[in-house]
Amino acid sequence: MCLQGFQGYGYSEDFVLNMVRINEMRKSADCTVTLTNEPDDICSACPNLKDNLCENKKQNEIIVEMDNEVLSHLNMNNEYNSIDLFNEVASIFNSSDSVENICNECKWAEKCLFYKKLI
Ligand code: SF4
Repeated sequence: MCLQGFQGYGYSEDFVLNMVRINEMRKSADCTVTLTNEPDDICSACPNLKDNLCENKKQNEIIVEMDNEVLSHLNMNNEYNSIDLFNEVASIFNSSDSVENICNECKWAEKCLFYKKLI
């Protein structure tokens, strides 16, 4: 979801460069995605990732809750083709109600094209 809304903002230059790289990779027909609610390839470049936690324990709990809300609609045991996964995500989260528990507290919501197209 966040990748679909990404328009170049982020926590640091390295983070943004990594987001750009992953956002391009996920559009390739042979890209495979493994789902996780732990720090992933995007988080790996984030300056706020410390000891495998997002910023602090409380913030980490919020992020994991957001992840789990998304993951509850998908099969964690599957490896997804990236294009199929992004299409499925777009069909599940297709209204402001569907992202209410995920995006409402997000500090990037005002800059996120994915969120803005739903509200
Ligand atoms: S509003 Fe925030 S959590 Fe929701 S899709 Fe956009 S960046 Fe991700």
